Amino acid sequence: MWGFNRLDHLYCLRCNRELEAGQKSVAVFVFAQTTGVRPRQKSAAQRICFCPQCSVSLAMGPAPEGALNLAAWHMIREIVGADPALTEAAWESLHGVEEGLLPATGTAGPHPGRGSYLEF
Ligand SMILES: [Zn+2]
Repeated sequence: MWGFNRLDHLYCLRCNRELEAGQKSVAVFVFAQTTGVRPRQKSAAQRICFCPQCSVSLAMGPAPEGALNLAAWHMIREIVGADPALTEAAWESLHGVEEGLLPATGTAGPHPGRGSYLEF
């Protein structure tokens, strides 16, 4: 149903951490469909998940390149900004996760210093 993603084993797209069922996370659903073509063609939906830290980090980070990435970035920013629960979850899990487990991102460009965006 969700392609190769099994519902009970979801992994954060950015840090590859396993997301347990019921854990706070952000899921981005993507599917494609044709317009102006009959019969209408519709692809299977893909579900992309981000853990709270990565969601917050992405939302606070610089805009990515690529129209599709940019669209996803805007959605994540909107959803992270709408509810402090994710930021809180990211903050909480930072205490439980050893420094260094989160990989330094390979993304180009400026990256916010670790923790700087979570200091109140
Ligand atoms: Zn993650």
